[in-house]
Amino acid sequence: MRITCPICGERDRREFYYRGAALDRPDPEAGQEAWDDYVYLRDNPAGRTRDLWYHDAGCGSWLVVERDTVSHAILNVALALDADA
Ligand SMILES: [Zn+2]
Repeated sequence: MRITCPICGERDRREFYYRGAALDRPDPEAGQEAWDDYVYLRDNPAGRTRDLWYHDAGCGSWLVVERDTVSHAILNVALALDADA
């Protein structure tokens, strides 16, 4: 799998470190159940996902990568700073 870093260009996925699902953080006052879900519960979807990746062997940027877990296609890559929350 190859990921196109917005700064460095197309690179092998081994240059990146997977950091998990890119989730929307609940409001600080959302309550214990919302925070428990955010911290501990994850879906394991077959299809489109939105994940955080760190370009460890490159520019050190945090990226939001949209990909398809079935076809392994990379659908979009954006700097986490620019991605919608
Ligand atoms: Zn990079």
